[in-house]
Order: sequence, then structure tokens, then C-alpha cells
Amino acid sequence: MYNELAVQVFDLFRLKEQLPEQIFERFRKTVDVKSTLDADVAELVAREIKKWAETNGVTHYTHWFQPLTGLTAGKQNTFLGHGEDGRVISRFSGEDLIKGEPDASSFPHGGMRSTFEARGYTAWDPSSPVFIVKNNKSSVLVIPSVYFGYNGEVLDKKTPLLRSLKLVNHQALNLLKSVGINRRWVKNMVGPEQEFFLVSEEAFCQRPDLRTCGRVIFAARPARGQQMGDHYFGTIPDRVLAYLEDVEEVATRLGVPIKTRHNEVAPNQFEIAPLFEEANLAADHNQLLMEILTTLARRHKMVCLLHEKPFCFFNGSGKHINWSLMDDQGHNLFSIGKNRKSRLSFLAVLTGFLLGLRRHHDLLMSVLSSPGNELRLGGHEAPPAIISVFLGEELQSILADINTFWEKGCQARAQVKFEAYIPAIEQDRSDRNRTSPVAFTGNKFEFRMPGSSASIAFPTAVINLIVAEGLAEVAKALSVCRKDDDRLLCLNKIVKEQLGIVYEGDNYSETWREEASRRGLYGAHSIPETIARLSDEVNLALFERHQLLTRDEILARTQIKTEIYIKTVEMELRVARIMLRSICIPAAMKNQQLLLANIREFPAHVLAQNPDLLGPQEAFLVKFTQKINRAMEILSKLDEDNERLKDLLGERSQADYCSQVIRPRIEAASIIAAKIEERVDQAYWGMPKAGDLLFR
Ligand code: ADP
Ligand code: MG
Repeated sequence: MYNELAVQVFDLFRLKEQLPEQIFERFRKTVDVKSTLDADVAELVAREIKKWAETNGVTHYTHWFQPLTGLTAGKQNTFLGHGEDGRVISRFSGEDLIKGEPDASSFPHGGMRSTFEARGYTAWDPSSPVFIVKNNKSSVLVIPSVYFGYNGEVLDKKTPLLRSLKLVNHQALNLLKSVGINRRWVKNMVGPEQEFFLVSEEAFCQRPDLRTCGRVIFAARPARGQQMGDHYFGTIPDRVLAYLEDVEEVATRLGVPIKTRHNEVAPNQFEIAPLFEEANLAADHNQLLMEILTTLARRHKMVCLLHEKPFCFFNGSGKHINWSLMDDQGHNLFSIGKNRKSRLSFLAVLTGFLLGLRRHHDLLMSVLSSPGNELRLGGHEAPPAIISVFLGEELQSILADINTFWEKGCQARAQVKFEAYIPAIEQDRSDRNRTSPVAFTGNKFEFRMPGSSASIAFPTAVINLIVAEGLAEVAKALSVCRKDDDRLLCLNKIVKEQLGIVYEGDNYSETWREEASRRGLYGAHSIPETIARLSDEVNLALFERHQLLTRDEILARTQIKTEIYIKTVEMELRVARIMLRSICIPAAMKNQQLLLANIREFPAHVLAQNPDLLGPQEAFLVKFTQKINRAMEILSKLDEDNERLKDLLGERSQADYCSQVIRPRIEAASIIAAKIEERVDQAYWGMPKAGDLLFR
């Protein structure tokens, strides 16, 4: 049994063995419907957690939280405290479990607090089980937690996700009720596919751009890249397999259920995906998985790159969020049911999904925009920066005639049989469209835009918020219908109004861009603009209406996202200037010296007999010198940009300058640097080349 292998997790199965049934059921209810946890139950659970921790040799505990940096954080405490007789003893109470108090001054708050207001709180999230992380000599009990400020300001990514789960549960139950189905709960299930690159640690350490920015800024394209299409699903190299086996072993002990692993499209690019779980757990587990991936890589003398675009000449990395809703009977609300009632509920839920997404797709785009994703989205490898939904043939035909679907269900699926001795295969309900940003894949939606390094917590919260809004609206419309015929009529009308968000064609094509703009879909023009969209009045109102976050909290998040964008580009600018000045240009000049010396020292008597002999070399020298000049010219512009950026007032204008001027200029620098790299003597190039980072 998988759960028995998850020895470092105090999960519900372990807890159930320890608690009286009634207490356990009260606790379970909190986990299932996110209801308030009573203090007496919390105390009993804390006692069991402590017992379990002690038998496992735990020395420390930490409240593990997800501040707005995108990483996780926690302060480690021992169990030591003063006993009554003055001796130092080990103790851990319900209160210790529930509440932690980190200094909040160093985490982003987006202007919600002053620097001197440092008090922040972490509070246990009972819906995500505690686990143990083993180090060399210490073992830490990790308590998944939410994080907020002194006045209750939400300062993390988990809180909105938890609220969104309650919200989507509530709205989905309501909608089901309006079509005559009563359920106890509806959970949001999520399976995030994690893509990443692995590179040689030795080469990594010698590249300032990779070390600082997580991506290669100056590198020429290696001769062999992904053009042969021989990497995707190919044999996993031995050293990578050994690493992935270690990753899976550690993940299993921590209760992260890994389902698939495979090579991705680009050289040295891989993907690992867990079995889907409730969104809150999936989000915690994805954070944990990213930590395991990066930590264990170093033990195998490799570095795991989670950046969205580590190499400009290879495909970037994403994190597809597979998203669905499941009820307490284990039924997926996006599975097509066998009777009329469940087909009606399928239509209602699908209509709500499309309505929410059509109305608020710009918000999702905004949440997914990041400095890394700016380099990835919109290329011919990843979804474009326009959101649309792919439904596929079967759903299209259902929507074309929902009455027939309701009465008779779907047509039987075709069997594909191509050789007598090979078993027949049932054909899928639809082909895949890999260019679509949001694709229906049988019984779930796959959101393909999230970046590989991003936390899924807030994007998932926003998907839930948007869908909950859609479900609420559909439930409201259905509430006045008396008969199923009326309900079908009503759904038919609403769903037809949402088709502007549906697109089945090639999302990479130019015609789609034009068509999308005619349909009034939001097309991202620049990252600063898309980030600002988060605080658009419509979106602020949506967050407030569903009490996911307050207006101030959203304004703060917008500010933090903008700051992160500026700081990232600033860092790239700094690294680019240093590398140009201290690596690229010096290497070029050494090479220039070599060329000059060759020409200068060429025997005069040979030249006298062949006056044109050095013509080609001189021409090469001239062109090469022009390239050096061009690099120097861009460098001085980058130096000016650095000054100008400091002088600009206001974050939005700084961010605009970063996106409109600095990033394109760094790209121009990288093009000229690559040309120089391709022309200088290998020995002069002061760092490993892209090919040295890769292994096969
Ligand atoms: P792909 O073929 O798109 O690359 P993968 O097999 O790599 O898909 O990953 C699919 C992910 O979707 C897995 O994490 C899987 O557990 C998850 N998944 C499957 N069914 C559901 C569902 N009903 N709801 C949410 N996630 C799901
Ligand atoms: Mg996959």
C-alpha cells in the first residue's frame, strides 16, 4: 500500500488509528469541508502528532509557509521549554502546533505594513498533513501553515487557495442542487506536471548568468539541439534515471505520489508528474517536489533548473495544471454520466466553467504572468499569451445539440484496430490540441500556461474563483426553471453566449491573434500591463465579492508582482553588463590580438610575392572588430539603462522601461555575444558553452 510507504507523513490513516472515532470524524470534517477546527480536537490531534514525532526521533518543528516570494519559508524550533521545577524539558502543546510567530518584516507585503511593523503569524493548516524532513543530525517536524500579518492581512499563497476551495465547494454544491443532486462536498482535484532541465553542476558553477538568474543569457546555439525530435519520450539517460529514482524514493516517503516520468522535447529537459490530489495538498506537494528536485540534483553533480526559459534556443518549461472537481461519491463532475440527471449536471458545470473563464480570463492571464513566463509564452512551443479553451469534437457535438445529448448520451466510442494480433483500442473522445492554453482532456481541463517555477497555489485559487463565479451565475439562472426542459433551454442559451472563449484551431497562427482580438479576448501586450490587470476594477470586485482577498491585499499583490519583475530584470541587466565587460569583450580582444599578430608577423617576402594573400584574414579581422564595437556600443547603452532605471519614478514606469527597453537590449547583446563566441578561439572563451552544460 502506498500510504504505508509514506513513513514520514502523519496522514489521516495514521491519525485514525490513534483517535477515538468521534474525534476523528470531527477532524475529518474540517479537512473535507474546511470547517472550523474546535480547540479540544486540535489539542488531541497535537498530542498524537507529538507522540508520533517523538517515536520518529524528531528534534525540531517548523511552521512551513508560502510567503509572496514564491518560495517556502519556516523557522525551526526545538521542543525545549522550562519545566515547573526549573529544569529544561521537551514539550509541544496544541497551541504550539496551531500557532507560530515569525518576524514578518523581511517578507514581501506590498506596502501593507511599515518596516517596523514586524509581527506576523503562522497558523497550522489541518487539511495538509504534517511530515518529517530528515537532515544529517536533526529531524524536523514540518507543519504546513498559513501566514498573515498582525492585523490579519493575508501575506501568503495558501490562504486564498484554502478560501477558494471552500468557495468552489459551496458554489458547486449549489449548482448540483439546482439540478436535483444533493452532495456533501465537492473538492478541487489537481495534478501539476512539472518540467525542468538538468545541467552539469561543474559547468553551471562557472556561468554567472545561470548561477544568478537561473538562465543562460549569453550562449551560442549548440549544433545539435532539439531539431531531430529524438529526446521526447526517449530513453532516460542512466545518471538522470539514478537521480529520478532517488527523487521518487524521497517523494514517496514524504507522501508525494509520483505517477509519471519522461524526457521532454529539449535536450536535458524532463518531466515528472504526481497523481492528482486535492488542490491544497497538490500545491504543498509541488513545492516539496521542487525542493526535492533541486536538492537531490546537487548530490548527483547536476543542477535542476526550474526556470521557464533557461535556454533561448530550446523549448521552455511549464507546469501544466490538470484541474477537475470531484464529489463525495468519487464522481468527477467533468465525466459524462450515464443518466439524464448526471448529464444535466455535466452541462450545467461545463456552462459555468466556460462562463467564468470567458468573463475573467484576463485575470488568469495576469496571475500567470511572470518574468520567466514572458520569455516562454507566445513562442511556437508554449501556449500564446491569449487564453482560449479547447473542447474537442465530442464536446463540440454535445453543445451543438444538447437535447439529444441529454436524452441519449454520447455516441459509443470508436474502436481503433490496426493489426489482427494487437488488441483493439478505444478511441479517445477527441484528438489533442497541444497549442491550446486550456484544453479539455477527457474529464479534466489542462491549464498549460503556468510557468515551471511558479507556485500553483495562487493560480489554482484564481481558477477556482473564476469558475465559482460562473457556477454561481448558472445556478442563479437555473433557480427559476421548474422542469428539465426549461433547464436545458436555459443552459443552451447561456452556453451559446460563452463560445467566444472556445477555439479549436491552431493557437500559434497569426489568424488566431486577429480573430481573438475581434472576439474581444484579452491579449497580453506587456508583462507590466498584464500584471496591472490584477487590480482592474472588475477583478478587484470579483475578489471582494467572494471574499477571497480584500482590495488592499490585491493591490499589494500587484505591487509585489511588479517589484519582482523589476528586480529580476535588474539582476539580468547587472549580470549582462558584468559578463560583457569581463568575459565576452576581453575574449574577443584576445582573439583580435591573435588575428592582428598573425597579420603583422606574416613573412614580408611571401607577402611581396602574393600581395592579396591576407585579404580574407583582413576582411575577417574588420568584421570581427565591428562585432566587438557593436558589443561595446550595447554595453555602454546598458550602462546608461542602469542609470536611467534608477532615475525613473514609480514602479510601473520602471517595469515598463524594463520590458520595453532593457530586456530587448539584453537580447540584442546576447545575439552579438553569440556571434563573438562562435568566432573566438575556444581557449579564450572564459566559461563553459551551452554544449558543455548538456549531457546525453
Ligand atoms: P500529459 O499526457 O498531458 O503529459 P501526464 O500523464 O504527464 O499528462 O499528467 C497528467 C496529470 O493529470 C497527472 O498529474 C494526473 O494525475 C492528472 N490527472 C488525471 N486525472 C485528473 C483529474 N481528474 N483531475 C485532475 N488531475 C488529473
Ligand atoms: Mg505530461
